[in-house]
Amino acid sequence: DILREERSRYLADEKRIKAVTVCFADLEGRLHMLDYDKKFLLKSADNLTFDGSSIRGFSRQAESDLRLAIDWAAFYWLPADVFGPGKVLVFGEVLEPDGTPYQADMRSRLKRYVDDLFRREGLICYVATEVEGFLFQGQHAEQRYRETDRFEFITTSGYYHSLPGDSLRLFIDTAAEVQRAMGFANEKDHPEVAPSQFEMNYSYTEAPIAADQVLLYKLVCRQVAHKMGMTASFLPKPVTGVNGSGMHTNLSIARGDTNLFHDPAGRDSISAFGWNFINRILHNARDLCLILNSSVNAYRRLDPHYEAPNEIKASPVDRGAMIRIPIGNARSARIEVRSIAPDANPYLAIYALLRTGLEGSEGQITDSYQSLGILPDNIYDALDSFRSSAWISAIMGEDVAMRFAAAKQSSADRCPRLLGTVIKRAEIQFH
Ligand code: GLU
Ligand code: MG
Ligand code: MG
Repeated sequence: DILREERSRYLADEKRIKAVTVCFADLEGRLHMLDYDKKFLLKSADNLTFDGSSIRGFSRQAESDLRLAIDWAAFYWLPADVFGPGKVLVFGEVLEPDGTPYQADMRSRLKRYVDDLFRREGLICYVATEVEGFLFQGQHAEQRYRETDRFEFITTSGYYHSLPGDSLRLFIDTAAEVQRAMGFANEKDHPEVAPSQFEMNYSYTEAPIAADQVLLYKLVCRQVAHKMGMTASFLPKPVTGVNGSGMHTNLSIARGDTNLFHDPAGRDSISAFGWNFINRILHNARDLCLILNSSVNAYRRLDPHYEAPNEIKASPVDRGAMIRIPIGNARSARIEVRSIAPDANPYLAIYALLRTGLEGSEGQITDSYQSLGILPDNIYDALDSFRSSAWISAIMGEDVAMRFAAAKQSSADRCPRLLGTVIKRAEIQFH
């Protein structure tokens, strides 16, 4: 409430700000933004409503108006040179008309879950994502895409060898500056392995903030690319024959200053607690697959020849393994889940991984380095595993899980079932 007062006063006093962008994610993880006039917002912050019936995954017959509560802690200034003058953005929590939390708003589900973990057990969940993307020539390249041609790279540059004047380099520099101005703790930014591919890394933070940052990262990249006359794309596999884009997600759990994943005496310095966490995710990997790889296109990416995993196992070295154990010390010990595409809903993905890692069944796994088989190689198999999973219903709620499956099924059904080597128009979604 101190934050609310402080930020409301700032908004009221700052003459350059005329409107405030309030945003939330739908069940599939698409960012929705509503621009409220500043004076109206300040007057009606407790009474914001919107029509939920046209938001995918939110719609239900009887519901149309939903409420929005401002999350004053998730408040961001958008740099004027990229977004225009006087722009601020704040996340909102979606509520039922009677003010109770809305179950399909995975952002508030994730927040409540980690708040509860902290209150009950003193646990803190840390997350760092590594979001990869491509830069393509021309604005709205995704909208204009035709199956008969292909996306045009803006450069042939790849890993570490772009020149200073290269537009990929300029794009990365600008986007990273915007991130820093918005409070991301950037660590390293670089062109990725495929031509025209990029990745910007920033420090781990608490799970809900890390998930917000995924959506902000994509927003910033799209905005910067647009200003440069290009398109930033987070399709998992926009071009066949080269690496796709992943959203590797690093997870660790702490109590106070102690990283519970670390134990110098454990195998690869991971504690028994950490290994249990890994085993639970591996044991439930097929059921979770739709959440981590939610589009037809995501299954094109899962090919170890292109550094994208398809094997249900952990490994310190093998990039075909869905979980990698990076070299870590007491502070940095973590696990890296690699089988996640950048078009997944980050709130749902992180929520499902944390709940599964902490509470899921471990089955009979004796050696997590041994392969438990291959992940589904198409979305229909993933949909089957998801729908028949009691664990998924338990953590998402039957109703929300079925709505998610229905949304994914309908997108999948728009794509021709037999996938050739050319990306189909219907595979292209904006997440
Ligand atoms: N682009 C690869 C992927 O699809 C990952 C490359 C890397 O290890 O950073 O997951
Ligand atoms: Mg990478
Ligand atoms: Mg990685």
